[in-house]
Amino acid sequence: MVSIKKDLIPKSNGNRPGYAMNPDFITIHNTSNTDKGADAKMHANYVKQPDTAVSWHFTVDDSEIYQHLPLNENGWHAGDGTNGTGNRKSIGIEICENADGDFDKAVKNAQWLIKKLMKDYHIPLDRVVPHKKWSGKNCPDRLLNSWESFKKGITGSDDSANKAPKIYPLPSGIIKLTTPYTKGEKVTQVQRALAAAYFYPDKHAKNDGIDGIYGPKTANAVKRFQTMNGLQADGIYGPKTKDKLEAVLS
Ligand SMILES: [Zn+2]
Repeated sequence: MVSIKKDLIPKSNGNRPGYAMNPDFITIHNTSNTDKGADAKMHANYVKQPDTAVSWHFTVDDSEIYQHLPLNENGWHAGDGTNGTGNRKSIGIEICENADGDFDKAVKNAQWLIKKLMKDYHIPLDRVVPHKKWSGKNCPDRLLNSWESFKKGITGSDDSANKAPKIYPLPSGIIKLTTPYTKGEKVTQVQRALAAAYFYPDKHAKNDGIDGIYGPKTANAVKRFQTMNGLQADGIYGPKTKDKLEAVLS
């Protein structure tokens, strides 16, 4: 939780165009200003100057968030023209990278803000986009290389680094396609391991087809796994398939 300080650009400024906006996207930028002191407050002052040509909605640093525009008005930050979707339909967020600031903390604060805006404006995660999407500019330059993990950090699902590796217990013995189909926890274990190795029993089914039933689709997933891993592709789960699955998942 970070405080948001409203410090709006005067209505008389040219960089507050005042076109009505119903935001569909959130656009992320880096300030590209690594000077000491180039924090959110400094940018709030900069963007209020009458001769500043650009504008955006929020600047986030390691301790504060400044809001420069109301969220029902557009800003000029996306570089895609007067009628561009980036400029006219997206909330612009600048993340500070001042040398005397904690960039990782600023990123965390921005992720918190984005999550809140997504909720408030019903904006899905795939509409949280880099400035680059609109104009091709290499922005946010500090985040483009790790964009997917930046996005995962917004919804808080990327805690994999802090988690112990997932363990997939596998049954011994042989399981194969029989009539009636073999069912139960052992089959579920095999299916979970297959799915973890990206050989889903049924990618389009509920729970990736992990249903505890060794039917044709699961036998086929075993077969595909075997083919790709140099095993005899018979669709029968046995010791060799077990060993290989364990090796792939370790
Ligand atoms: Zn930018």
